[in-house]
Amino acid sequence: MRIVSTAVYPIKIPKKAPFQVTYATRTACLAILVRLVTDDGHEGWGEAVPVAEVTGENRAEVFRKLTSWLPANLTGRDPFDQEDLRLLLERELKPLPSARCAVDSALWDLRGRALGLSVRELLGAARSYHQASASIGIKSTPETVAEAAGLLRRGFTDIKVKIGLDPAADIQRIKALRQELGCGWRLYLDANQGYTPEEAIRLTQALADADVSVEFLEQPVAAANLEGLAEVTRHSPILIAADEAVKDPADLLEIVRRQAAHMVNIKLMKCGGPTQAAFLVRMAEAAGMKAMIGCMIESRVGITAGLSVALGLANVDYIDLDGYFDLADDIVTPSTGAQLEAGRQYLAPGAGLGLKVDEEKLKQYLDSELGASA
Ligand SMILES: [Mg+2]
Repeated sequence: MRIVSTAVYPIKIPKKAPFQVTYATRTACLAILVRLVTDDGHEGWGEAVPVAEVTGENRAEVFRKLTSWLPANLTGRDPFDQEDLRLLLERELKPLPSARCAVDSALWDLRGRALGLSVRELLGAARSYHQASASIGIKSTPETVAEAAGLLRRGFTDIKVKIGLDPAADIQRIKALRQELGCGWRLYLDANQGYTPEEAIRLTQALADADVSVEFLEQPVAAANLEGLAEVTRHSPILIAADEAVKDPADLLEIVRRQAAHMVNIKLMKCGGPTQAAFLVRMAEAAGMKAMIGCMIESRVGITAGLSVALGLANVDYIDLDGYFDLADDIVTPSTGAQLEAGRQYLAPGAGLGLKVDEEKLKQYLDSELGASA
């Protein structure tokens, strides 16, 4: 089996409502899709979502690189030359992890389709579903409570609340959530680097003192401040997860060495795709750390790749794969790929990533500012 053609599609899908985190407010999914086609007619899809603040990438640069790099380096290649391709991506696309993710995902998709097995099965088939989580951006207390109540009514059992701009207001908001909505659901917190170590420690202790049950707190302090993260981890009564601080295996080794977090949030866009994500999940397992699979604001192509990893590997305790929940439209055919039902996420049956991209919608959401390349 040989790759005979490659194509790159920048897409822009608006969100139904803006989403605020500490460093930005997002209004659309800005992605770049990759399609690889083989001589026996199989298609493999992958998605890149460059986020300058997290992956350090520029979207136009990712588009230009993929457009020139793919035909030059993948045409004529056998997708089953796995180690060779892994090292090629590592060598040539290391500074562009989301670009690497798009290519790696499409190669996994092709291998699965050729073998008649899903990527979830190729990775280990650990589970058939995960409890989904949905995120609430930084909002007022009444808005947060109302949105959380709506999510619980829709069947969600796991809710992530974004905090990190104002510790006192955050404590109030989180306490109010538990007071208003009770127990019986799981609360994740994510400060997206917003606090000092002292603020983070005070917040975790205040919540513990008030008996507010929280699964974990993500990335309380700046990604580069590993000393501070370790300090919070030593003193926090709540489990601390590293997110922005862990992009690749070297970062995770350093976190483990310093005992700087209890858990790690692994995102395909940060680490470079399913191959690297699987490596990180197993590294975390070796270190006795729980792993979660997270996402950016992605279409259901990227989410399906993330969910395939999350359901394939045993050491994934949580998922945060809600990046497409609030998009105004969906470019993947409804009954294919990642599915959400009654607060659970699972995969529709199918080989590879098991998804079908809607060609009409792909045209409709093509981002003309960047153009298309085939
Ligand atoms: Mg996070």
